[in-house]
Amino acid sequence: MKTFLRLTAIVRPYYLWMALAALIGFATTGSGIGLLVTSGYLIAKAALQPPLGALQLGIIGVRVFGTARGVLRYAERLVSHSTTFRILAKLRLWFFDAIEPLAPARLLHFRSGDLLQRVVDDIQSLENIYTRVLAPPLTAILVSLMMMLLLGTWSIQAALLVMFFHLLAGIAVPLMVATLGRGTQTGIMELKTSQQVLALDFLHGIGELKVYGKLPAHLARMQDNETGMLRLQNRNAFLDGMHESLTGLLMNAAVIAVLCALVPGMQNPGANGISLTVITLAVMASFEPFLPLPASMKNLEADTHAGKRLFEILDAKPETTAPAAPAMFPDNPVIRAENLSFTYPGSYTKTLDNISFTVEPGRHIAIVGPSGAGKSTITSLLMRFWNTSEGELTIGGKDIGLFDPENLRRNIALVSQRTYLFAETIRENLLLAKPGAGDDELKRALTAAGLGSFVSKLDEWAGQHGMKLSGGERQRIAIARVLLQDAPVIILDEATANLDGITEKEVTGTLAAISRGKTLIAITHRLKAMEQYDRIIVLDKGKIVEQGRHGELMQNSGTYRRMWELQHTAGPV
Ligand code: ATP
Repeated sequence: MKTFLRLTAIVRPYYLWMALAALIGFATTGSGIGLLVTSGYLIAKAALQPPLGALQLGIIGVRVFGTARGVLRYAERLVSHSTTFRILAKLRLWFFDAIEPLAPARLLHFRSGDLLQRVVDDIQSLENIYTRVLAPPLTAILVSLMMMLLLGTWSIQAALLVMFFHLLAGIAVPLMVATLGRGTQTGIMELKTSQQVLALDFLHGIGELKVYGKLPAHLARMQDNETGMLRLQNRNAFLDGMHESLTGLLMNAAVIAVLCALVPGMQNPGANGISLTVITLAVMASFEPFLPLPASMKNLEADTHAGKRLFEILDAKPETTAPAAPAMFPDNPVIRAENLSFTYPGSYTKTLDNISFTVEPGRHIAIVGPSGAGKSTITSLLMRFWNTSEGELTIGGKDIGLFDPENLRRNIALVSQRTYLFAETIRENLLLAKPGAGDDELKRALTAAGLGSFVSKLDEWAGQHGMKLSGGERQRIAIARVLLQDAPVIILDEATANLDGITEKEVTGTLAAISRGKTLIAITHRLKAMEQYDRIIVLDKGKIVEQGRHGELMQNSGTYRRMWELQHTAGPV
């Protein structure tokens, strides 16, 4: 109930639109009833062979209601779709606004298939909250009231009888169907999510599944899911059939009851025959808006479930937020860690354990160490993906928590191991770093990044995940982005780790050239061209075990020298 109320609060700005759509919907159903009633009247009256003039009223009624029904149906579709799209636009923006600050720290708990399901299907389910959940009961109530009024002028007894059957069709049947089908919609949605997760794993890991012989087991899990979904859908179809039959039964029972109530009191057989036809048809037609009610209850369950899943994300607190009065990023930033420790939530061991280092402006430092030493965690803290736990991390003497994460990320350019390219053109992928940059600027950045041949390919599609580009070209696009971003600090997090020897050397050279005069933090476990760094910080199991220039560290018999010798005698790692 709480979720439903929160959902209705989200669509509150569209209440007027919804009211308009409901009114037009009611008028459309009313015209349908009017058309049936006037046609019945016309046929019944014509059967008595009256003079043509006596049929005029019926003929006009059929024309008016027939035309009105078509026009109103069109208007109702127009207004309700427009309302739906307004709600959809609001929901999407609302959701993306909410999800953006949660990345990456808070989204680690969600599987990508699950997130995709929330972004696409849950929102799509909610976009119909008006047309599928709110509108049907509104129309049914209005039609029922109209019937009460019209029948009431004729016979109070008939009106009360119809009201009784309307209540059964409008409350008892939907409640019964909802009770019998409780959990079906939620189950279908959960199985769909699980299927999506399995399908994504299948697509991304088909190679591994084949190599390790797990393909049949994975396919069997997908098949089980499919079977479960089929079972629930069958139950759904059975309940749909049941509610339709029950509503039909109630409609016929209402007609019989009204006829039983009215017939004994009728005297003139001709005139009353027409009245009875009209009443019978009107009572029958008045049940039409009750047909979608059980579906609306089912949709209520589905939408509430979708809403709960979306609120789960919305209610998650971002790991890092902008302070009320954020600090300005300094011109010459000194980056300093002082007794810094960090533990990932849920972890029992410190990933960074009491480390201290300083990076002066314009200096190039390398952070090296074995895999899992905590090197990338330093990047995550500097980019404010996570908040620091103990000790200090400052930029220009100000605690990192005083900076707005967005501002920080504009001033610290990051090239990671795997550059993500969107399935867009090369231009769009570059504009990410500097929205509004002109073609000349983009071409200069491409040329400086060593992608001179790409200047004529700005409008070419980069392919899904940038698959139309080689690994080296993708990293060069990342370099072009860094050039466009023109940030004073550059972090290279294993930026060349995926490249072959020759490309790595070329890309490393370009990176060295673009970072001249800027602060550079290079994170790597591959010790190549280490002489170029002003200082090397050696990290092992979260602790700084050595610091110094390459020559100095090679004098010691520490971790650095052991790593270097291992890599240069046993070949590249
Ligand atoms: P590599 O060279 O392999 O990239 P690294 O030195 O960069 O390693 P980190 O990625 O910083 O190491 O990881 C350090 C430790 O923190 C690892 O043991 C890792 O399992 C753990 N870790 C990393 N990210 C998380 C996370 N989000 N939650 C919990 N533990 C994490």
